[in-house]
Amino acid sequence: MNPSYVGRFAPTPSGFLHFGSLVAALASYLDARAVGGRWLLRMEDIDPPREAPGAQAAILHTLESYGLEWDGEVVYQSQRHDAYAEIVQRLFQQGLAYACTCSRKQLEPFHGIYPGLCRNLGHEQHDAAIRVRVPELAYHFIDRVQGHFEQHLGRESGDFIIRRRDGLYAYQLAVVLDDAWQGVTDIVRGADLLDSTPRQLYLQELLGLSQPRYLHVPLIVQPDGHKLGKSYRSAPLPADQATPLLLRALRALGQPTDPALAQATPREVLTHACQRWNADAIPKCMTLAEADLR
Ligand code: GLU
Ligand code: ZN
Repeated sequence: MNPSYVGRFAPTPSGFLHFGSLVAALASYLDARAVGGRWLLRMEDIDPPREAPGAQAAILHTLESYGLEWDGEVVYQSQRHDAYAEIVQRLFQQGLAYACTCSRKQLEPFHGIYPGLCRNLGHEQHDAAIRVRVPELAYHFIDRVQGHFEQHLGRESGDFIIRRRDGLYAYQLAVVLDDAWQGVTDIVRGADLLDSTPRQLYLQELLGLSQPRYLHVPLIVQPDGHKLGKSYRSAPLPADQATPLLLRALRALGQPTDPALAQATPREVLTHACQRWNADAIPKCMTLAEADLR
């Protein structure tokens, strides 16, 4: 084992794994295993109202049947509330976060960029969301596939939520705390999270946590530029199609595949892919026809 690489896959059980999640899981797994690193699994079950019944078990089962074995015990974010609460209280007491009572309706005209309405109103925490104050600065990083990415937090995000009004913790907070707590050095995930990364960099800086390396695998886009159709995205990965779907995912990641592997077990496909893993071959953008994926 190479202790200097710790990767992870962090699915949200709001649905089943689909082809896009397989591509992300596979890239994360291979990037870790190719250097003898650890690969952890974290269930991001912090939003029970949005959870699909049976999704947690189905996700674990799919990973197992695709040969994607993780190290150690699964971490459940639903068990980590005390850690999240402690940080929210600390930021609040330091004046780095504040309570916001704005309604969805009130915020509608601002298109997701919080205009700071409650910043200096000194609201109580009760029945309020908690937002972290962001500086008027751009946060940037170099992604291993996507290259330079930056976002001006004041203009492109505004003060963002770390605890929702209903008491649930926000993804941005939980993901940063857990990656640090689990010692994750390398985050490999879907490019839909690229524009969350600057907020996460800011939280890491605020909390004195070290910054992991990032690799965002491309989203799958149809030749006409549209994202992969909803119907396909939500279709669960069939257990009996592990080998062909792993091979398709490898091709989507720009990795060489051997026609002889069509008859191989999922584990054999992974071993083969691990020996040849080349993250530099991952395309920035994937255009695959939906028909190719079926
Ligand atoms: N739970 C997130 C998702 O399924 C991914 C979190 C992450 O990889 O940072 O979209
Ligand atoms: Zn507000």
